Amino acid sequence: MTMTETGTSLWPIEVSPTESPVSAEQRAAILADPGFGRSFTDHLVRATWTVDAGWHDARLEAYGPLMLDPATNSLHYGQAIFEGLKAYRHADGSIKTFRPMQNAERFANSARRLAMAELPSELFLGSIEALVRQDRDWVPSGQEKSLYLRPFMISTEVGLGVRPANRYEYLLIASPAGAYFPRGLMPVSVWISDDYVRAAPGGTGEAKCAGNYAASLVAQAEAAAHGCDQVVWLDAIERRWIEEMGGMNLYFVLGSGDGARLLTPQLTGTLLPGITRSSLLQVASDLGIRAEEGRISVDDWREGCANGEITETFACGTAAVITPVGEVKSRTSGAWSVGASGTGPVTARLRQALLDIQTGAAPDTHNWLHTIC
Ligand SMILES: *Cc1c(COP(=O)(O)O)cnc(C)c1O
Repeated sequence: MTMTETGTSLWPIEVSPTESPVSAEQRAAILADPGFGRSFTDHLVRATWTVDAGWHDARLEAYGPLMLDPATNSLHYGQAIFEGLKAYRHADGSIKTFRPMQNAERFANSARRLAMAELPSELFLGSIEALVRQDRDWVPSGQEKSLYLRPFMISTEVGLGVRPANRYEYLLIASPAGAYFPRGLMPVSVWISDDYVRAAPGGTGEAKCAGNYAASLVAQAEAAAHGCDQVVWLDAIERRWIEEMGGMNLYFVLGSGDGARLLTPQLTGTLLPGITRSSLLQVASDLGIRAEEGRISVDDWREGCANGEITETFACGTAAVITPVGEVKSRTSGAWSVGASGTGPVTARLRQALLDIQTGAAPDTHNWLHTIC
């Protein structure tokens, strides 16, 4: 095993570069306007787990289709988990990722919840280092551009028996990503889902698993039918407490100016513990903004917006960093606006502060950046 400067030992990965990489001109055209999740780099990393051999055969090879037996059990029973993180090109040419060990840890937690084999963090981090090094020319430079990394794992045992599989495949793919809001930050409108729930106590809400997303799509379609961009999920028991928005966590700004403070729904076991969410608790405190985790109901949100106590609301996650919420609609609670139109000052300040750390414009005082090359 090789050691990085941080002392983490990395899993050895056999490198077999593709014979037919995308041409430099074609790559430049893609990087000029990458969008999100549309194009993929020349390579992927994969590794296999079996009962007998554990994790083995970790290799980097050409990006391409998988060949799966139709009876592969993840296709039927959904043992499938994923992660999402970004690599940034800094002004000095170096390439860094943001808190990758947090993703490694959450990936292992997701695996445990779905009775899958846990991926060692040395292999998680080793795969990221190998792929980003190999495909470093795919990391875009420029404002809010990055290489989005998508680690995922599926069960690959063949057969229709319902039980934890005896074979898993880990894969890492990478996709260049542009600014999430190419025309500037636009507040989203949200539909509070009174009828569908994302996660219930004892369920898989805390795991980043494919099934959570499958179960969310009908509510997302309902939101769209009501003219809203995103769904806001409530707790499954009382259908009253706000949990999160689509694939992002939520923050509420109470008060304004020097008295502004932040509230984010506490992690009850049914919310996805976002790394952006936890980073913002720290960034807020660094900026002298009081931030706490607690409970907030739909009534609190509506009344707080009406009486001016709630001045801003935003969602946060790796893909979009921070997205302001502008309009709220619900079948049972009516419709209302959050604060003034546009992006509120606290939302904008936190977004810039976090982006500055991620892109190297501000000092990395918490050692969140991991240099790859
Ligand atoms: C991934 C995800 C988030 C955000 O997590 P980050 O680590 O901040 O990217 C929030 N909610 C859900 C449901 C998610 O899947």
